[in-house]
Formats: sequence, C-alpha cells, structure tokens
Amino acid sequence: MFLNICVIDALARATGTRYSTFDVVGAGPRVVAGIAEKYGQTTFYTYEDAIKRVSRLLSCDVFMISAMSSDYGAVKKLLTTARSRGFRGKIIIGGPISFEYSKLLSNLPIDYVIVGEGEIPLTKLLPMLSTNSIKISEIPAIAYVEEGVVKVTSGHIYTPVEVLNSILPWSRVDEAFKHPQIYRFYVEVVRGCSNYHRPRIKTSKFTCIDCSKCYSPTLEERLTCPIGIPPGCGFCSVPYMFGPPRSRSIESIKMEVEELIAHGARRIVLSGPDFLDYMREKLVGKVLTDPCYPPANIDAIEQLLNELFGISEVKNGRVVIMVENIKACLVNEEVASVLGKYLRGTTIHIGLETGSKWFNEVVLGKPIFTEDVVKASKLLSSQGLRPYIYLIYGLPFTTREVYRDTIEAVELLKLSGVEKITLYKFINLPATAFEDLKPSVDEFRDAIRELKRVVDKYNMVAKRKLLGARIEAWLYESKGRIYGYPVNHGPVIFVEHKGKAMVSGCRGLIEVTDIGTRFARGRLISISECQ
Ligand code: SF4
Repeated sequence: MFLNICVIDALARATGTRYSTFDVVGAGPRVVAGIAEKYGQTTFYTYEDAIKRVSRLLSCDVFMISAMSSDYGAVKKLLTTARSRGFRGKIIIGGPISFEYSKLLSNLPIDYVIVGEGEIPLTKLLPMLSTNSIKISEIPAIAYVEEGVVKVTSGHIYTPVEVLNSILPWSRVDEAFKHPQIYRFYVEVVRGCSNYHRPRIKTSKFTCIDCSKCYSPTLEERLTCPIGIPPGCGFCSVPYMFGPPRSRSIESIKMEVEELIAHGARRIVLSGPDFLDYMREKLVGKVLTDPCYPPANIDAIEQLLNELFGISEVKNGRVVIMVENIKACLVNEEVASVLGKYLRGTTIHIGLETGSKWFNEVVLGKPIFTEDVVKASKLLSSQGLRPYIYLIYGLPFTTREVYRDTIEAVELLKLSGVEKITLYKFINLPATAFEDLKPSVDEFRDAIRELKRVVDKYNMVAKRKLLGARIEAWLYESKGRIYGYPVNHGPVIFVEHKGKAMVSGCRGLIEVTDIGTRFARGRLISISECQ
C-alpha cells in the first residue's frame, strides 16, 4: 500500500501559538518528510495550516508529528481535533518530546512514538505500515501500547553519519509556505554535541562520586558516567538525545541548500549545537567528547562555507547564509577571520548561561566562562559578526553570588560588541541531569529582578544604535499589520503604513523610527524585490 503521509511541524508551538520567532523552520521535520517520501505521497504542513485545515488532513493514512516537550498542549489540540473530526489513520510522533513516551501514549491518541533520532526506526516503521512485512519488535526505539501497557522496543539509537549523508531532507518549501523567502530555514550541518562534561551534583537522584571520568583525557571514557548522570550541560538534553557530533558531508549540505533555494528559500541557517564542531570529530579519530579541544577544524569549515558561497544566489546576495550556535571556547583569531570573511553582517549565538566560573564548570558541567565569551564576542564583532548571548536564571543551586557574577558578566560584555543578550528562565527538561529539579526563583527574587533590569537596559542601549538605521527586511502582512524580518536576522520591525500595503513577500528597506525593549518600529523606504 502506497501511504498518504502528512508530516506536521509542531516544533515550538507550545499550546498552539508560536512563542518563539515566527520565521524559524527547524531542520528535523524536513528530514522526516525527506525519509517519508520514499514510502508514500508526502505532504508537509506547518502546525498552523494543519490545525486550520484539519478536514484536508483526514484522508491521510499517517500523521507524523515533530514536537518538543513544551509543545504537548499544541499536539493535544491537534490530535483531539483530528480524531474528533473522524481521522482514523496512524499517528506517529517524534522529536525531543519523544522521551516522554509514557505520558504521550497514556494520554493522547498516538500509535507510535519514535524515541530519539528517527532515521533508522522510520525506515522500518513506514514499510511496516504499508506492507505489514516487519514486526514492531524488529524496529528499534519505538514506543507503543500493547494490551494497555506502554512498551518500548529498545533504547534510543544514534544515526550513523553515512545515513545522515544519504538523506535529502524535504525541500519543496514553496508548497507549504506562502512566502518561503521570509523564513529562516535551518539546515543541519552537525548532529550531536561535544560537551560530555557533566554536572557534578549531589542530589537524591544523582550523587557524583568525583571519579573524573567525564573530563578524562581519554575521550571515550567520557561517554559514560558510573552513576548515570546524563552528559552535557545540566539543563540541556542534546548530548543524551543526539550523542556526540557527527558532521554531514559538504555535498549533502550543499545539495539541500541548493534545493531550498530552487524552491524559494532566501534565508538559510546552518544549524547544530555548535557550528564550530563541524568536522572537528575528524581531528580526534574516534569520538569527540571535548567541547573546547582540539580547536575548530578550520579547513573543513572554510571548505563548507566556500562551497556554499559558490552558489550563485548566495554569491550575489539574494540568499543569506547564517550560522546558529557556537561555543565560545573554540573562537580564536583564525576562526573569527574565516567566519567574518563569509558571514559578515549576520548574527551568531553563544551560550554563557551564568557569569560564575565555579557554577558553570561544576554545577552546569559547562567548562566555558565569561572570559571565553567576552574574547569570542570581541573577535567576532571585530570581523563584522553580531554576537547574541544567552543567559539563564532560576537554575537549581544558583546562589546570590552566581547572580552577582552574572550581572558583572553583563557589564563586561558591554565592551565586546554583543548586540543582544537573551535571558531565559530555566525549565527542567526530560533526559537532562536537572530533569527532576524545579526552577529556583523564589529565594533570590531581588537578584533576578536586578539581572532582568540590567539585561533589559543592555538591550535597550544596544538597540538604540538602530534608531535611524536602514535595514533590509522581508515583509509580511498579517491581520492588517506589516512585519519586517531583517534579511540578516535581528529584531522584528513593525512597519508603519496607511491602508492596504500589499507588500507580503517583498524585500524592502526600512528606516527604524522607534524602539522598545520588545519591539522596533520603522517606515518603509523602498521595495527592492517582490516574489
Ligand atoms: S559526573 Fe563525572 S565525575 Fe561525577 S561520577 Fe559522573 S563521570 Fe564521575
């Protein structure tokens, strides 16, 4: 049976409304759709489209939904609506939410949860649904319900790099997005994270025995902790879920970027937990479990960027390429110079989390400190990149001194060219060392308030530099308002206009006329292209 498959991107939809930036399209659901195409007629839906036009989806044989833990509400809304409207097909869910398979299978009308990375399980699960030739027990990492009991066929598995390279993620973005040029399409270049340090914490669940394995000079030794503390930063599930870094080949990345461009994409983000981990695993031979050593594989990075910037639409500036995240400890003059050569004018995200050396190293398991971030930001901004820094408050075990150090770090960042600081509230996620630890926000409310004030002030001062600036942006009209999404990324701009403007999908020049902590306002100067 040739399946009619509907892939639905529910990432970052929370309870049904987008809470993060509207213009981000993650890489995972497109990878899933790319695999699904081999097994059936595949249609890609944004969550908003799927929920608005549920009746169109009722003829699907299979729903395949990608979501994060925080998207449980949105998933519930979609599935309840679809089932109540008569959807009788199979429902498969995957993505970071998959580690909560017991909760999903016990509470929602889901048939299968793909736990962790989906490439290998999917290539067996979809044939099972179409031909019945494979038994569920033969497929790894699938959770399902049998006779009222939640079962899982095996633990999650990591997809080998050869398999990652063999998949062409679904790229016909003009079929699913009315104006694909507006969106930032994430193209995965590295899967997994190199930080195998761990929070050396002592809680009722985990008691570190200080064996030093997680920072052993032998990189393979870092893979396991004798008492089972998950690897990486305590708040982050990436190393546990996705394993150590595996870099896709230049050929496969380039092919995907070219396909996206052919279908109207104009903003591409090279994504991964750390762009500077690209091909760094090749320098250590085996498994890369050190976030800061050896230095970045600058030859491989330059080769990749050189190939991508050889694509005519990238070379002539019609398409902008940016990178997502980097680790500060890998930035040196050479790295900054190569990134500046290709990525000048674009943003780059760096996690600092707190300004306390002790806290980052011992409690978070993140051996990256304020001085690394200050140095990296200075080097990168001197090469024309625009550093965005992440901080977190409410982390378990935070002390007053940690907040004091973090406020001091904000002061130090002032002189390092950082364009924006994003302060997140800690959320305890499944599959992390801090899974069972609640946010700690009551004890130091005054310190948190002060940190928020300092960060808001920082961002306002940085944003003030935008007043009067002329910024190229993609325009989007919704409910009578026009939004400008800066071509090179930056704050969304509310564009003033009178009457109907009819500029959705156009690229225009906007002059910034007003700014606030959460917005920028501007007026349209000219339109350079409409698609
Ligand atoms: S967290 Fe690191 S030092 Fe502590 S027990 Fe685990 S491997 Fe050993």
